[in-house]
Amino acid sequence: MRLILVGPPGAGKGTQAVALAAHYKIPHISTGDIFRANLKNGTELGKQAQSYMDRGELVPDSVTNEMVKDRLGNSDVANGFLLDGFPRNTNQAEVLDAILLEKKMPLDAALELAIDNSEIIRRLSGRRTCRNCSATFHKDFEKPKFDDICDKCNGQLYQREDDKEEVIARRLEIYSQQTAPIISYYKKAGILKSISAIGDVSEITQKVISLLK
Ligand code: AMP
Repeated sequence: MRLILVGPPGAGKGTQAVALAAHYKIPHISTGDIFRANLKNGTELGKQAQSYMDRGELVPDSVTNEMVKDRLGNSDVANGFLLDGFPRNTNQAEVLDAILLEKKMPLDAALELAIDNSEIIRRLSGRRTCRNCSATFHKDFEKPKFDDICDKCNGQLYQREDDKEEVIARRLEIYSQQTAPIISYYKKAGILKSISAIGDVSEITQKVISLLK
């Protein structure tokens, strides 16, 4: 299964990606997680990405495309992969197609998680993320057992800089201007599958699995 997840920030791409990657036994490749890991480790890549991430802007394609190309060179993608957060504009989608064409590994599906803006703002502004394992919680709707502590690994929970309200607005703007056009790109390619991102997490996962059968 070679799959990409498309949807606005807060649609639950990360959550669904973890479940789907486990189901299909394929690596979950999140460009946002790779950038955050580089930021945490103070690498050159992290330094290049930080100012864009903090403002909710896209990291330049030259940096992001190289990083993804490098990641897809890893042998663990031989039996499939799930890309989460990439591509995020038409140029990235074209670059991805070129990389996969060369590897003779075309995408099986582009899965769109659809959700409206008011629900996104509610989800993102209350989201808390584990510094250690990237698991996410919600301060009102999916509270951790202990305040600011991750249920899964006891790591510290924090609010991502880009989950603050003023940055969310910018991310939504970027999504509609730059990322939404890739939905018609994959529709034209005949591999788009859309599903509502509202509802119980595991029910959505099951619906996706049936849709992809
Ligand atoms: P995410 O965790 O997917 O919401 O990504 C967090 C941030 O990382 C984004 O707001 C961007 O600044 C950066 N980022 C992640 N994926 C990409 C991408 N495909 N292209 C450019 N920037 C990205």
